[in-house]
Amino acid sequence: MRFNPEKCRIPDEIGKPFIDPEEIWDFINNTESTPERVREIIRKSLDKNRLTMEETAVLVNTTDPDLIEEIKEGARTLKRNVYGNRIVLFAPLYIGNHCINNCSYCGFRSSNKEQVRATLSDEELVRSVEALEDDGQKRLILVYGEHPKYDANYIAHTVNITYNTKKGNGSIRRVNINAAPLDVEGFKIVKEAGIGTYQIFQETYSPEAYKWYHPANTMKGKYEWRLTAMDRAQQAGIDDNGLGILFGLYDWRFEVLAMIRHTNHLEACFNVGPHTISFPRIKDASGMKIDEKYMVDDDTFEKIIAIFRLAVPYTGMILTAREDPEFRQKAIQYGVSQIDGGTNLQIGDYRYHHEETEKNSDKVEDQNLHREQFKIGDDRTLGEIIDDLLANNYIPSFCTACYRLGRTGEHFMEFSVPGFIKRYCTPNAILTLTEYIVDYATPEVAEKGWKVIENNLENVDDKFRDELLKRIERIKAGERDLYF
Ligand code: SAM
Ligand code: SF4
Repeated sequence: MRFNPEKCRIPDEIGKPFIDPEEIWDFINNTESTPERVREIIRKSLDKNRLTMEETAVLVNTTDPDLIEEIKEGARTLKRNVYGNRIVLFAPLYIGNHCINNCSYCGFRSSNKEQVRATLSDEELVRSVEALEDDGQKRLILVYGEHPKYDANYIAHTVNITYNTKKGNGSIRRVNINAAPLDVEGFKIVKEAGIGTYQIFQETYSPEAYKWYHPANTMKGKYEWRLTAMDRAQQAGIDDNGLGILFGLYDWRFEVLAMIRHTNHLEACFNVGPHTISFPRIKDASGMKIDEKYMVDDDTFEKIIAIFRLAVPYTGMILTAREDPEFRQKAIQYGVSQIDGGTNLQIGDYRYHHEETEKNSDKVEDQNLHREQFKIGDDRTLGEIIDDLLANNYIPSFCTACYRLGRTGEHFMEFSVPGFIKRYCTPNAILTLTEYIVDYATPEVAEKGWKVIENNLENVDDKFRDELLKRIERIKAGERDLYF
């Protein structure tokens, strides 16, 4: 951690928060979008430079449909040229929905008496992880409500159980967490347990709007405590952070610029920007109360995703199963690098794979919102999602190599180190796809998978191709977890 107090304004240390609504509105109200500027800014991003707040504001203020198309085309080109066609897959695993907060948009909020409360027992957690491994998952994000039960030691305990649960050839190789902000000591404890990314969403960066949704007498009502969570995570040595905004709570233009401001802050203070950014959109939740006027429609949402891709070109972008399959399919091309698959939000439900499969046959229309945080739009199985990705010539990847070899900030390396993707990412994606094909795929998916592997061998560095082919044979012969 290279904390630089000179460049950094952290509340309580220097006295001023780094989000200044006036500064952000000033950019929105006084930045003009012209075709020349938009094209110049797209070129700057395609040359692998991060955009400033002023440049991002130009894109945000672009309303001409042809220019918006150019922004989207820029994002597509960046994704294609820099990152290629890998999509990393993961699944969320809800550990518990007890919550002391009262966020008005969330089914888990404390005043929602209809919500059925549950926390996975250790035994249920083991069986859930086994079920996820049986599907072929290798990367999970554990999700928790905010409650004294879910303190840092408890989170570390669940992370340890997850890593230690192995079934057949299955193992979870990367455990990320989405949990309420901790203090520095707490972050040290969860780091010690070996978490990958620490993810937390600011929800809205507007201090004023934040108050509408998060009552002041709750933990989550403390805007600055949440805003500075990543600073404390960094101070505890967690340099792999995931930022997020819940779109639909406030003016999307403000939120996009505020997230760039947050990125500037992290870069200035710690020399490292966010590892990933997430952009959930509000979905129906039991008894939720929000102001519909800030809802973001599909066209605007596509534009937002494309702007993020160009503004922070080195960052991983996550699009979750909140969105329906058609939207996900479309949005991936603008630079999404990770999606969840086989998602089930009902606490404890994954484990039914092992017990009565019919209990797990709920489809989107049967989702019981009194047992879940919100409604999802994509309830396809992991197998169905992989099938679909392969049909569109994407390489589904479960790669965790960089993280396990201590190459942290791998997304940044993919972006900035010439040849990194051809040497490491593509071969590793192919090796994890090979494992999936051999261990879990149906014959039809396997056939498509081998074809995609064959088609992508040319995208592997010449010097690594022979070794890759040997390792594919070693996996077929029974070895697992091979990576470059
Ligand atoms: N309790 C932790 C917290 O608040 O940080 C964990 C977060 S919650 C289990 C994960 C995220 O789901 C929240 O940060 C929020 O952005 C999102 N979320 C909550 N209600 C939602 C809704 N109705 N639709 C879509 N996403 C929602
Ligand atoms: Fe609790 Fe998080 Fe839901 Fe708020 S968003 S009610 S803190 S689970």
